[in-house]
Amino acid sequence: MQILKFGGTSVGSATRMKDVAKLISDGKQKIVVLSAMSGTTNNLVEIADYFYKGNTSGALEKINLLEHKYNEVIQELYSTPEKASEAERIILSHFDFLRSFSKSVFTLFEEKAILAQGELLSTAMFQLYLEEAGKNSILIPALEYMRIDKNAEPDAAYIAENLKKILSENPDKEIYITQGYICRNFYGEIDNLQRGGSDYSASLIGAAVKAEEIQIWTDIDGMHNNDPRIVQGTKPVPYLHFEEAAELAYFGAKILHPTCILPAKLNNIPVRLLNTMDPEAPGTLISNKSRKGVIEAVAAKDGITAIKIKSGRMLLAHGFLRKVFEIFESNQTSIDMITTSEVGVSVSIDNSKRLEEIVNDLKKFGTVTVDKDMVIICVVGDLPYETVGFQAKVVDALKDIPIRMISYGGSNYNISILVKSEDKNRALNQLSEALFN
Ligand code: ADP
Ligand code: ASP
Ligand code: MG
Repeated sequence: MQILKFGGTSVGSATRMKDVAKLISDGKQKIVVLSAMSGTTNNLVEIADYFYKGNTSGALEKINLLEHKYNEVIQELYSTPEKASEAERIILSHFDFLRSFSKSVFTLFEEKAILAQGELLSTAMFQLYLEEAGKNSILIPALEYMRIDKNAEPDAAYIAENLKKILSENPDKEIYITQGYICRNFYGEIDNLQRGGSDYSASLIGAAVKAEEIQIWTDIDGMHNNDPRIVQGTKPVPYLHFEEAAELAYFGAKILHPTCILPAKLNNIPVRLLNTMDPEAPGTLISNKSRKGVIEAVAAKDGITAIKIKSGRMLLAHGFLRKVFEIFESNQTSIDMITTSEVGVSVSIDNSKRLEEIVNDLKKFGTVTVDKDMVIICVVGDLPYETVGFQAKVVDALKDIPIRMISYGGSNYNISILVKSEDKNRALNQLSEALFN
């Protein structure tokens, strides 16, 4: 079985949906995971925000605008009046559902139900289109098998059991359509796998059915060697190791959701990144193979805060680091980077919600300095330390940029550098110039 996930742009218009239908019609059995049409989830977030603020007319205005957009899409998508009016009825029911929140109290629970409508709409419309085109397909609702537990972690056993049951009840379908992103939580409520989480859905589904391959179809021809939104002339990387891809996704390469690699890696299922707009392009194959000693790509993660704790007592002080880490743990804040010296330690965090509490607690152990608005630049490849020179190239490329922290050796796969966000674009461009041109 293959898993094919199509992102928001790939299903972002009637034409794109028709292209996807062609792409998936090759006779092979597959599960097709769809995101919401591009822009929809952002719109739904905005609608929920209006409801939160008690501005019902603002919410209704946004809902009506979005509904209009969907009605335009279906005019183009279907060629028979029967399917067009069936689609109209489906759309109306989803938008009536959205409007119904103007009469109720609005909490996180209602918000999650609203956010789920994007994927429910795109999959329903797409399945209807496949039916009209005479394809052997069926819609399998994610809310019937995708589930997270009490800690918001996917419940792999539940997912596998229920998904396999649904598939075995419909054994001779060629195309199984399902929603990315949405799930139920431990209490059976509608929930989601966080923004961009359709990639995660695809890899959880792949792991559950032990798929032969997971394909992530998007609007670019694979993982590029730098952020194409910031650097010109970036190129696709043909092969990446699971670890390399995980580092890049975690450190900001938006093409992949950070959580998406782990289920694939644990089950050794290759992940292929492909371009809906250029299906013949080779894209990127992510597997357990790597090219040793090659710097493959660079990514950047925004919104980082660096914290330095200087203590005269760190010298010979057993347990100093433990005490520091415990403060982050008790404040439910995870650490990204860490560098140490004899008199102090610096760490970086990407979630500064509890910064004040953390700083207050740390002051018991030393002098604390905070640098906000930082960016982690992450250079990725299979870079064993015996092969000299990677870090020299990296540092040389950044020689005129102030570097707050450098970390190498945590794994073979990355060199991380912390810089000010105002230096991010320059750093990424200079690294591309030095490493890839
Ligand atoms: P989808 O909606 O299909 O999930 P995303 O917008 O989440 O697509 O991801 C694709 C986008 O990721 C690309 O359009 C590109 O701008 C951005 N991107 C950021 N870094 C990279 C990178 N290193 N390689 C490829 N794309 C990247
Ligand atoms: N539609 C969701 C989002 O925009 C999930 C996804 O596209 O992966 O975040
Ligand atoms: Mg995405």
